[in-house]
Amino acid sequence: MADRQTRTPRQQDRTPAEELLEELGPVDRYHDYESLGDFGMPARAMTDDLLSGMTRPGRFGPLEKVHAFWFAGASCDGCSVAVTGGTTPSLESMLLGAHPGIPRIALHHPVLNVESGAHYLRAAEQAVLGELDAPYVVILEGSIMDEVAAWRAGGYWSAQGEEPWGPDGELRPVSATEWIARLAPKAAAMIAIGTCATWGGVPAAEGNPTGAMSLMDFLGKDYRSVLGVPVVNVPGCPPIGDNFNETVAAVLYFLQGFGPLPEFDELGRPAWLFGETVHRRCVRGAYYEEGVFAEEFGDPECLVEIGCWGPVVNCNITSRGMINHVGGCMNAGGACIGCTMPGFPDKFTPFYKRPPGSLASTTASRMVGSLIRPLRKFSNNNLNREVRWDRQGASPSAFSREKSEPSALADVGHRFYDKVRRANDTGRNDADVWGKRDEAPAGGSPNPRV
Ligand code: SF4
Ligand code: SF4
Repeated sequence: MADRQTRTPRQQDRTPAEELLEELGPVDRYHDYESLGDFGMPARAMTDDLLSGMTRPGRFGPLEKVHAFWFAGASCDGCSVAVTGGTTPSLESMLLGAHPGIPRIALHHPVLNVESGAHYLRAAEQAVLGELDAPYVVILEGSIMDEVAAWRAGGYWSAQGEEPWGPDGELRPVSATEWIARLAPKAAAMIAIGTCATWGGVPAAEGNPTGAMSLMDFLGKDYRSVLGVPVVNVPGCPPIGDNFNETVAAVLYFLQGFGPLPEFDELGRPAWLFGETVHRRCVRGAYYEEGVFAEEFGDPECLVEIGCWGPVVNCNITSRGMINHVGGCMNAGGACIGCTMPGFPDKFTPFYKRPPGSLASTTASRMVGSLIRPLRKFSNNNLNREVRWDRQGASPSAFSREKSEPSALADVGHRFYDKVRRANDTGRNDADVWGKRDEAPAGGSPNPRV
């Protein structure tokens, strides 16, 4: 391990991961599990042992399980919350091996596992040593901070456990960043969850003192897993849990030999999830098209003039919802602040201010909408009437509210519209429409026209 006083200078030609490992040096001591006893194992068993006894037999493919190491960098744990709320597929179904085409996941999560301390780190140690009993993927939530600078200053930013890697075998905190650097070379896949891990996110915003960066930036643009897979990125702050669970399931189908490598875009995002903008599936999109805009939160119209960036943001929350296909920003009244994007947050601040570029499109929408809205209202009034009512020139009342008959001008307009609408209708004939002859209704029409 390099002496902090004789450190090497920082170089541009190494990836940050290579630089960190060079700074820290190799490791060769590990915990003595015989001497630990049950300390840190209140259940007297490891999580993997408990769950493996509950899994379903009859799985297809060569892999019985795949280990998933979950690390947290500069994170709020929102990604963990999002993933545990996923339903398609649910985390618990993957932990229990309930999907025959994918291997069971042996999850190592600092919050969810029942073992703690050194026992919790046992599988990660075996992975570093290349002695793990199954392939593994590494998942990072939160951004990677500059642990080289912290190490040189005598501290660390974010650690996960202790290992006897200090001078003379002393225990020292091991940063999540160090675990990532040591595990990445032998991983089957490296997966970044949430915008902090995928692009740096809030911890990397202007003014931060941590040097926070994304997993992709940390491992370098040429990183490939042992299976040749670049870093997989599932952004969002927090991400949609189902986006992540579905992506993991798709990667596992690939590892099991039951599916192709899922399609990822040039930024490593699942292409089928991030190919569309928020705006294209927004529940308020028609208001934008008709040039009607909210003036304050709580209004039902399009939110662009009070700060929505949806037209230029890649995110599927408007079609998928947040949890179990329910909720999501615009569905719940919130404007898009671009939380899935590599430019978040610096390129979207100040939040809740109109994006300057929207002025041209909203002006055009207002102009077109001022013409389209009355015409649609005109047709809407007509379509809210049965054909029978038109022919009888009368409509029933409902809930004691009289529905007025269309004006003469509207009547002419609708007849003209009907002629245009049916101009190419090859099914037309001159016979009466069955059941809609011009008889008076039972009890008499309130205003018979025929
Ligand atoms: S609220 Fe945002 S995403 Fe929805 S229509 Fe308006 S601008 Fe588009
Ligand atoms: S709609 Fe915008 S703010 Fe909401 S989750 Fe998607 S990117 Fe984030």
